[in-house]
Amino acid sequence: MMKTLLPGSLSATGQQITLGVMGGGQLGRMFVQAAQAMGYFTAVLDPDPASPAGLVSHFHIQTAYDDEQGLAQLMQRCEAITTEFENVPAGALFTLGAHRPVAPASACVAVAQDRVREKAHFVRSAPRSGVHPAPYAAIDTPELLAAVPGDLLPGILKTARLGYDGKGQVRVNDRAELAAAWESLHRVPCVLEKRLALRAECSVIVARGADGQCVSFPVQKNTHRDGILALTEAYPGAVDAALAAQAQRATEAIAAELNYVGVLCVEFFIVDDANGTPTLVVNEMAPRPHNSGHYTMDACDLSQFEAQVRALAGLPLPTPRQHSPAIMINLLGDLWYDAHSARPAAGDAPLSPPWAAVLALPGTHLHLYGKLSARRGRKIGHLTVTGPDVAAVRSTAAQALALLGLPGLDG
Ligand code: ADP
Ligand code: MG
Repeated sequence: MMKTLLPGSLSATGQQITLGVMGGGQLGRMFVQAAQAMGYFTAVLDPDPASPAGLVSHFHIQTAYDDEQGLAQLMQRCEAITTEFENVPAGALFTLGAHRPVAPASACVAVAQDRVREKAHFVRSAPRSGVHPAPYAAIDTPELLAAVPGDLLPGILKTARLGYDGKGQVRVNDRAELAAAWESLHRVPCVLEKRLALRAECSVIVARGADGQCVSFPVQKNTHRDGILALTEAYPGAVDAALAAQAQRATEAIAAELNYVGVLCVEFFIVDDANGTPTLVVNEMAPRPHNSGHYTMDACDLSQFEAQVRALAGLPLPTPRQHSPAIMINLLGDLWYDAHSARPAAGDAPLSPPWAAVLALPGTHLHLYGKLSARRGRKIGHLTVTGPDVAAVRSTAAQALALLGLPGLDG
């Protein structure tokens, strides 16, 4: 049972209440910062001495995620524990959960970290959620590979585990390519998904408390480039209002069906049904705050990270209200790449994105994650643009994109 951990109170042993997080990436960092803003102490478990969250946390336990001593230290330190990425070994969360409140629970993370179980959950939830996943087949034996229905091709072969930002995915057009792709993925368990003609993509963040109370954030429209989220647009009209409401209800049903506690993101495709009517297809879920929800930090009266803190601490979860239209631009390592790789000639100033010009635009909010090296495709930060109305936000975002040398809003 989850008890309320009031901000600013002391634990039974007279210590500051400490909230823990498994994983020290940018999502852990923003969780830590939200928890600290409310007066909690924080602890991060991540093996990387320079992890973005470890750098800003009160305590940083630098061990592997399944290190027994590391887990014991985390439990000793923390009154409650969450996770910032789904690839924490579910066994580690199970161990923690035996001794401390853990949200989301290991059973929920275990579903989200395996595409086969995740899709089965979507199918199971469909009577309540009203949405279905893309047609798919699980492949983990040569027999299942051979038995794949032909109408799943052209398709996308995705590893069941450990895929992110389009990694662990191969697009295949026919059976020969499918067989070669499975070989190239070392015959690990996979799902083959039918490739759909996407009109658009959107996602929903919900926060659900231990009492079953569930609130939705406004629905955002996502643009991916090379399998990585590039842009999120969050304002009335970015996603058709009826589809957005349906996506929120579906996400709440998917969370309820798991008895989920914490912040959950569900991604959807918008495709045309047989009659040419736009309709939702559920893609995948993340048992944590999500890149597409970062706009909530600057555009809503409750951020997805504060919601994660509240759900973990057993605090109330009022419905979030978006006060400004927003566009979030992901800042990938590519923006710094030349500075870090091309070795500028002696005397050349290192390249850096033109922050002074970007920040001179009204309503720009820069978030950098403290990563010490930029790599192509690595998420180094994000920029959220807010404004008084949709036209102003789109115009400012277009200027910011141009200054950063990124494709425009409709490009
Ligand atoms: P990841 O874990 O990398 O986010 P996703 O399954 O969300 O994996 O796939 C990444 C992106 O690839 C999606 O956001 C979408 O743009 C595209 N994609 C994935 N599956 C399909 C599909 N079945 N049909 C068409 N596009 C897809
Ligand atoms: Mg995805």
